[in-house]
Amino acid sequence: MRLRLHELEALVRTRICRECDVRTAQGACALPEQESCKLFELFPLVAQAILATDSDDIEDYIRAIRENVCSVCLEQRLDGTCALRGQARCALDSYLAEIVEVIEEATGKTFRRENSKA
Ligand code: SF4
Ligand code: SF4
Repeated sequence: MRLRLHELEALVRTRICRECDVRTAQGACALPEQESCKLFELFPLVAQAILATDSDDIEDYIRAIRENVCSVCLEQRLDGTCALRGQARCALDSYLAEIVEVIEEATGKTFRRENSKA
């Protein structure tokens, strides 16, 4: 099943923002004004990476995010490290397993999780 971009984003927002530590009790995103949520700033690339990956192994989705999203994110350094990722301050990285779960639910796929590091 292929979802439209806005449908996939709505599913991810509903699930991830609800669980995100950054969300206030009132339901608002509490990120500082100068700090954007990379999950949604880069969501077209996130969705593209996930939808372009046809695998039953969750590791392939994690790799696709790293290669296609983190690689173009301004937060990632030339050596591949990321301060936000290191400090668990990127929702895309922190909730990657859950994000893929949303895709799993939406597509009816079952991913193998035994090797997941997310
Ligand atoms: S940081 Fe991102 S995932 Fe978390 S509440 Fe804000 S918009 Fe949602
Ligand atoms: S983990 Fe770092 S490089 Fe990857 S999307 Fe998040 S902030 Fe950008």
